[in-house]
Amino acid sequence: MPETIFEELKRYVRFGPQDETALREFLPEVAPQFRPITEIFYRRVKDHPEAASVFADDAQVQRLQVTLCAWLELLLTGPWDEAYYERRARIGRVHVKISLPQRYMFGAMNLIRGELLKLAESSPRDADSRVVLQRALNKILDVELAIMLESYRQAFVANVQHEERLERDDLARQLALSEARYDEIVEKAEALISTSDHTGHIVLFNSKCEQLTGVSRADARGRDWLEMFVLEADRAEVAHMQQQVIAGCPALAYEGPVQTAPHAQRRVRWHFTTLPGGSTPALCAIGIDVTNEYDLGVRTRRAERLAALGTMAAGLAHEIRNPLNSAHLQLNVARRRLGRAKRNDNDNVIKAVELAEVEMKRLATLVQDFLQFARPQPLRLSQIDLRDTARAVIEFMTPEAKAAGVRLQLESVVSVPIEVDEEKVKQVLLNLLRNAIEATGTNGCVAVRIRKVDGMGELTIEDDGPGWAADAPIFEPFFTTKDTGTGLGLAIVHRIVMDHGGTLDANSRPGRTTFTIQFPRAYQSASLNA
Ligand code: ADP
Ligand code: MG
Repeated sequence: MPETIFEELKRYVRFGPQDETALREFLPEVAPQFRPITEIFYRRVKDHPEAASVFADDAQVQRLQVTLCAWLELLLTGPWDEAYYERRARIGRVHVKISLPQRYMFGAMNLIRGELLKLAESSPRDADSRVVLQRALNKILDVELAIMLESYRQAFVANVQHEERLERDDLARQLALSEARYDEIVEKAEALISTSDHTGHIVLFNSKCEQLTGVSRADARGRDWLEMFVLEADRAEVAHMQQQVIAGCPALAYEGPVQTAPHAQRRVRWHFTTLPGGSTPALCAIGIDVTNEYDLGVRTRRAERLAALGTMAAGLAHEIRNPLNSAHLQLNVARRRLGRAKRNDNDNVIKAVELAEVEMKRLATLVQDFLQFARPQPLRLSQIDLRDTARAVIEFMTPEAKAAGVRLQLESVVSVPIEVDEEKVKQVLLNLLRNAIEATGTNGCVAVRIRKVDGMGELTIEDDGPGWAADAPIFEPFFTTKDTGTGLGLAIVHRIVMDHGGTLDANSRPGRTTFTIQFPRAYQSASLNA
């Protein structure tokens, strides 16, 4: 068994059997003096207000005098074992508890020592045993003082540990709180927030990222950030941008499409920043979904361009129409006269005139189309069901589709009541269906779908043709890839949809091309947009 504190103390001052005997023999001599000693003791305490302040009243002092008598008795009788130590230590702890300043221990112990040594001095015994007794008294009183101080030390250590624990708990609480707040901000943000480590692999992936990509954070973790968010063609450029940010350069924003569901995309504007990390800082990417603004921008620019072109050219087309008409009439007259003259060499001239007539007809169609596109015409609104209109146009177009070897079908048949200019909506459908049939060719497939979306009626025309090149300006007037095309079909579609206050989106990739149009179901909102 390891040595206890008490054993070690006794060994240090060499407190042994000889001391024990001396103390025990001294007891009968001094016991009658205990009471006077305690009286001196408490009188002295009263001279020191800070020490005296721990006593409630005289009754308590009376009780404490009794306790001190018992204390003196035990001091001289022992046994000086662990139970003794524990009893003395308990008294020490009481002193700590009532906040008696530590320095009074020395004063109190000095007083008791003085009184006991004085009594030993006058004890009727030989000089040698008197010296032995005085030494024994000094040893045990020093040990007592040490026990008292040990109580203060333990209390002090316990206090410090308690403070430390409080401080630690408080820090842990603050940390947990700030982590919770940080999580809330990251999770509830209307932005995509994602961080990646120095190898570019995803570490943090907030719920907006999950929503947009359809990938859970568990699946996203560890995947390459660039592969997840950036189209292959742009990855080198974005990687370079990220390196610059890590190197401390101010970064430009990067805007590009993010793959969502298969074949669907959203447009995201990214800002990059660094977060303090280990040896290399981590990269933080914050993205805002700007799809709606972007689409709006595209639509607005398109509308502005077409409006400007339309106004300028409408006058011109109008001017062309009249001379064209009279030239056509004159050619007719010329052909008839040539036919009547019946001269052999007239045949060639007739052919030339006929060719001129065909060309002029084409020119007339072009002018007709162009005026339709360019000249604003008031809408003749009526309540219709988009389903019935779509059915009628599809029926009308079916022979043309059959002749081209194309399957044409109406896929959804919900009723969509709507207030529009029906003739114009028919024109929209006609132009789009004709384009689709021309694009798919033999064995092609064209589908029309209609549905209700919020306050809008939606019309989708889908074909499985080759689509157009990414940079083809398909809505631009006169843009055509066809030998006999006017390049005005889509411009007219656009104009009609805008006049109705609707929206128009076109998407194309090889094998799947869609035009999606939304018309407001009631006209009020359209007139605001018009
Ligand atoms: P046009 O039909 O007279 O060429 P449009 O304005 O109707 O003029 O169309 C312009 C161009 O857009 C077409 O020439 C074609 O290149 C392209 N386009 C339109 N619709 C489709 C489609 N469904 N699939 C592929 N390309 C299309
Ligand atoms: Mg066309």
